[in-house]
Amino acid sequence: MTDFIPIRNYSDPLQASMAKELLTQNDIICYLDTENHSFASWVYISSLGGVSLLVAKEKYETAKELIEIFDLKSNEEVEEKCPKCSSAILREQNSNWFIKLIWCLISFTPAPYNNSSRVCKNCGNKWHADLGDV
Ligand SMILES: [Zn+2]
Repeated sequence: MTDFIPIRNYSDPLQASMAKELLTQNDIICYLDTENHSFASWVYISSLGGVSLLVAKEKYETAKELIEIFDLKSNEEVEEKCPKCSSAILREQNSNWFIKLIWCLISFTPAPYNNSSRVCKNCGNKWHADLGDV
């Protein structure tokens, strides 16, 4: 029988699922403890100590290296830059906020999409964050 030992606790269950998937893809047997509890009542996740990722004892060192790389990649801040001049001095411009407000009031749901765009303060270039140039 395989012994499992905890390798990391996650306060975000989705982050824990991604880490588990990474290990599974590298043929490391692992599972998440209290994952179902966190999805059922996420407000109690801190009292549960987060979602524990447990790995097979014989693969612990390999898993630890992979998780450290994964954590580093996850914590890297992605600094957005202007596609034309590479300036990082940007401002966010929200358009159609009134339509979004009306949508939310009528449908009782959040606005269906993020229509904000970025404007470069250096060159004046305007683009959507996800779509590229406007
Ligand atoms: Zn620019």
